[in-house]
Order: sequence, then C-alpha cells, then structure tokens
Amino acid sequence: MSRLVVVSNRVAPINEGQASAGGLAAGVLDALRQKGGVWFGWSGEIAASTSTTIKARQTNGAITLCTVDLSRRDYDEFYRGFANDTLWPVLHYQTSLSRFDWNEFAGYRRVNEIFARALLPEIEPDDLIWAHDYHMLCLAESLREAGCANRIGLFVHTPFPAPPVFMTIPAHAELIQAMCQYDLIGFQTETDREGFSDYVLRHCDGTRSLDDPTGQTLHAYSRMVRTGVYPIGVNVDEVRAQASAPTNQRNAVRLMGDLRHSQLILSVDRLDYSKGLKQRFHAFEQFLEDVPAARGGVAFLQIAPPSRGDIQTYREIRRELEAEAGRINGRFAEIDWMPLRYLNRSFPRSALMPLYALADVGLVTPLRDGMNLVAKEYVAAQNPEDPGVLVLSQFAGAACELDAALLINPYDTVGVAMTLDRGLSMRLEERQERHAAMMAVMRRNSLDAWRDRFTGDLAAARLGSPSAGIPTG
Ligand code: UDP
Repeated sequence: MSRLVVVSNRVAPINEGQASAGGLAAGVLDALRQKGGVWFGWSGEIAASTSTTIKARQTNGAITLCTVDLSRRDYDEFYRGFANDTLWPVLHYQTSLSRFDWNEFAGYRRVNEIFARALLPEIEPDDLIWAHDYHMLCLAESLREAGCANRIGLFVHTPFPAPPVFMTIPAHAELIQAMCQYDLIGFQTETDREGFSDYVLRHCDGTRSLDDPTGQTLHAYSRMVRTGVYPIGVNVDEVRAQASAPTNQRNAVRLMGDLRHSQLILSVDRLDYSKGLKQRFHAFEQFLEDVPAARGGVAFLQIAPPSRGDIQTYREIRRELEAEAGRINGRFAEIDWMPLRYLNRSFPRSALMPLYALADVGLVTPLRDGMNLVAKEYVAAQNPEDPGVLVLSQFAGAACELDAALLINPYDTVGVAMTLDRGLSMRLEERQERHAAMMAVMRRNSLDAWRDRFTGDLAAARLGSPSAGIPTG
C-alpha cells in the first residue's frame, strides 16, 4: 500500500487528546494513521532564515511530522501577504477586502518552492502526495520542476469562486497554470469545482478528457488534471459521544450558569470576516426588536476564538464586534437578563460538543464558507429524541448537503430574525424529522468517506501527458 505524504501550511500535534482548531486536522490525522506516512508543513516558528531542509522531525507510530521554519520576510510575503490578504478574501468572494502585491506573490511561490525542495528527499517512489488548501496552490508545480513524478493531489478547503471573481487576482493565470500540475484537485461542492473547471475551459484553452465520461478530467498546459467533489465530513459517533458524556455534560451545565434558564442560540466561529458575525449580531438585534416576547427568555452565546491577530482586518473586526455586542446589550439588557454573550476565546472539543447539545438553535451564518464543520458538529451533537434546530447560511458549503436545516441568506437581517423565531418555536416532530434527514446525509458523507474517496481517486488518477480532449468552443 502506498504511503501518504500530507503537505499543509501548519501541521497538527499528533499526541492524542490535543485539540486543534480548524477543520483540516482531524481528517488528515485519520488518513495518516490508516496509511502511515509523513505530514510536512511550517513549524509556526519565525527564524533568521527559512529552512531549506527539514528543521524538526517527530515520529509517533506510523506518522512522522516534518517541519521547516520561515524567515520574517517569507512569513510576511507568503502567509500574511499573498495567502491571507489576497487569496483568502478573493476565495471567499470578498474582493473589496483583497490587496495584491507582486512581491508577495513571488514570496508565495518561493515558499512553495522551498517546501518542495525540503520535502523531496522524504518522498518514496510509490508515495501519494496530498496537499491541502490555499497556501499550496503552486506546490505541485515546484515538485514537478524538482523532478517529482509521484501522484500529487490538492484538496481545496475554501470555496473556489467563479472566474470573474478569481480573475481579480492579477496573478490568476499563473495560479491556474500551477494548479494544473496536480493530478487531482478536490473541492467541497460542485459550485467550487465548476469555478475552477470553467476557468480552465474558458480562459486557458482547456478541454475535457475523452477518457473520462464524467467530463471532470481536464487537459490544459500539456497536463491532465482530474477534478472532483469531496465534501468533508465529521465523525458523527465521536461527536455525539463527546456531547453526551456525563462529565462533559456536567461541565457544560456549570459553564452555562444562569444561561441554562433561557432558550439558547449558539454560534461558534473563528473570528473572521467570512463568518458574517456582524450581520448575525444585527439579525439577533432585529429578532429582539420584532419578537418582544423573547426578551428575558432567549440568550445568544457567540464563541469566537481570535485568529490571524497580526493582520489589520482581523484586529478591526474584533474591535467592531466588541462595540456591537456592548451596544446591543446596552439597548436590551435587564438587571437579571443579558441577551448576548460574546466570548473571544477558544474551547476544547470536550466543552464545545455538550454546549452544542444544550443549544436550542445552532446559528451558522457565514457570508461564504468552504464547508463549515461547526454546522455538521452541531447536528451530530444533538439528542435525536429532542434535537435542536440548525439555522444555516445558504452560502456555507454544508448547505448543499444539509438542506433539511432552516436555510437563510445571511445578508437578509429580517429573514434571519424571522427564522430564529421559527427555529425556537419549532414542534418536536418537525425537529426530529429534520435532524434525522441531516444525520442520514452526514453518515453517508462521513469523514472516513471523504478521506477514502479522495485518496482512492488519487491512487487511481492517470499520470503523464494527455490524449486528445474535447474542444469546448
Ligand atoms: N473549534 C474548537 N474550539 C473552538 C472553536 C472551534 O475546537 O473554540 C473547532 C470546531 O469544533 C470546528 C473547527 O474548530 O471543528 C472549525 O471548523 P470550521 O470548518 O467550522 O471553520 P474554519 O475555522 O475551518 O474556517
């Protein structure tokens, strides 16, 4: 069996029980535990210079973590600059928040090249190389230039926008050409897959392969790249077990304090503008305005761990939300009732999963999100006998699968407020039906299925130069 070589910006701790925020870690670790192999990425350390060879190595069972350090300049240009100030906003359709600098793009490519050169000595001829996310769009190109002939796949955890949005990045053509050096590119939803495929077919003389009846294998730049949709899932049994473990439940009830006397609306997001937190606060305010009977009896708990705190936009959103939370509470709070609690810190999963289970409504309203695992975890954590209601943005990747949630448009303040009211007063039978429908989809599209389908397709992907394609006109 081929080993797996995983490459991502950051590697997660491999010691059991260490929680790590972010949707990538759990699925990747499971894949590595099963197949054995290497997980390669940045150590998180800033050093005098970027390591050109592996700086640290840690082995635990069949998994070896290999990391390199980044210089301040590479960190600024690759990570803070091009990846997070240019790519992240554009991939989330927030073009007005994106900033572009050719030097930063050069830095992004340089770090992808350094990663490729440092990784190459670790790679065995049969290894499957699986790169993750928007930091690694140019990795396969760099690996090919360094002589790597292995199968290389990329899973894009973020959304991938339609060509006119992607083309707002001045280096769009270079990026797509680099992405075509992968053998397989996986996306969360069909819309994301089409965004990439439309670009290749319309803007770089790409064609569909005659050999693939699904039309999802493309020829471009003398390469053949297969595309596919692999919605990332959650381990539903594990989530429910954490949510219902008596110790975890007791802790959650204690954490809730006097909140347990209210109907609870819960949101959990990294503090990021793509999550639509400001619009959500306004929708909750609208709800309190429109449904006076809810005042005193409903509370909204927003857990929002800080992320990317050294980037200006993220500092601004933090200040803005603190001000909004204060304003809304100032407007509606009573001596014995606080409508909105905003916690700017992270919680371990053992605390989060039982909180999900205690919440009457899970409010997940990103303006755009690749998948949104919180939505899936919220559903998985519920007691099937008396489940809560998921209110979900139509712009989260999860909405493609969880269409039995109450789907909303996060820009529609009044609509979200009305849906909150509907969710909080939904009858048990309807809650059970919706929950069962969502659980059935999530069991089908589990984390194991995501991992097995992607690695299976990568192992089966054809290598080498293309045969004739179908002109798309
Ligand atoms: N999470 C956590 N502790 C927190 C907040 C979030 O462990 O305090 C986890 C959450 O359970 C989920 C992940 O972080 O598994 C967030 O993934 P998601 O896909 O929702 O968003 P991302 O942060 O990847 O954009």
